[in-house]
Amino acid sequence: MHPAIREALQEQRFFKLICGASYRNTEFIATLARIFAEAGAHVIDVGARPELVHAARAGIAAAKVPVPGLPLIMVSVGINQDLHFLRVEKDFQRCDSRGLCVNACPHEVFVESEIRLENCLGCDHCVIACPSDALSLVPREPLAEVGALLAQCLEAGATALEVHTGDGGRAELQTLLDSLAPFRAAFELLAFSMGAHGQSAAEIAQLAQDIEKAVGSEMLIQADGKPISGRKGEKSTLPCLELAEYLRAAGLKSFIQVSGGTNDLTGRMARERQSAIQGIGMGSFARKYLDLSPSEPLSEALYHEKLERAKALVRSVVAS
Ligand code: SF4
Repeated sequence: MHPAIREALQEQRFFKLICGASYRNTEFIATLARIFAEAGAHVIDVGARPELVHAARAGIAAAKVPVPGLPLIMVSVGINQDLHFLRVEKDFQRCDSRGLCVNACPHEVFVESEIRLENCLGCDHCVIACPSDALSLVPREPLAEVGALLAQCLEAGATALEVHTGDGGRAELQTLLDSLAPFRAAFELLAFSMGAHGQSAAEIAQLAQDIEKAVGSEMLIQADGKPISGRKGEKSTLPCLELAEYLRAAGLKSFIQVSGGTNDLTGRMARERQSAIQGIGMGSFARKYLDLSPSEPLSEALYHEKLERAKALVRSVVAS
C-alpha cells in the first residue's frame, strides 16, 4: 500500500472523490480531478477505461497537489449487475415526449433532443420519474472485457483498484477476481466495495471475511450505504456508518471507508458515534456541493471558488 495512503487511513482522514464507475465525461472528470487533487483528496475514483484514467491524470497534472504522488487514480470494476455500472437506455417506442426525465436527471443527460450518455451515472432518478416506462438501466460493459481494460488502465497510469461486489454472489465474484489476479500486485491500493444491494449486515460481514481470507487484510473495504444518492442530512449518511460499525464489530482487520449517502455531515457523525472508520468517499454529494455544471466554462476565478468548497469538503472528514 502507498505509504501516504496508509498514513491517511491510520489517521482517519482519508478522502476519496468518486467520479462514478459509470461516468464517461472525460472533460468533467479532468476538472473534478484537478479541483479535488488540489483540495487534498487521496484518491480519484473513475471507471475502468484508459481514456478516463488519462482524463484524471490530466486534471491532477494541472493541480498544485499538497502531497507529491497523490492522489492515486483508482479504477472501479464490478460484476455486471452491480448498481454502479449501469447507464440509462431509452425505448423510443414507449416515450411520449413529456420530458419529465429532463428535470429528474441531475447530471445533464437529456439536453434538448440529445441523450448525453457520457454524463449518465446510472442513478435511476429518471427511470423513477418516467410514467411511460420508457427508461431502464443497462450494464455499461460486459464482464469479459475487464481483464483487457485493466491492462490498458495500468498502462494509462491507474494506481489503485476497486472491486464492486454486487449482490455478493460468490461464483460471479470469483470469476471477476480470477480475471483481476494477474494485475492486483501492480496497484498501490486495493479496495472492495460492498453493501449496496440490500444484503443483510451479517451477509456483508461474511463476504468481507471471505475476501480477507482470499486476499489478506492489507486492503480497504468500502462500506456502501445508499449509492449515488447525493442526499444531504444525517439520515442519508446513517446506513453506511451503521454498516461500517457492524463490519468492525465483526472483527474485520482491513481499513474501512464509507460511501453511499455520505455528505458534509458524515465526518462529524462518525466521530460522535465513534464509528472508527478510516475514511470517506463522496460522489454525487461532492458534485452537488461544488455546484458546478459539466457544461460550465471554468475561469480561474471560478476554479478558486470551487477549490475552496472542495477543501471544505475534504476537511469535513476530520473537522466539524
Ligand atoms: S437521472 Fe441518473 S440514470 Fe437517469 S440519465 Fe440522469 S444520471 Fe442517468
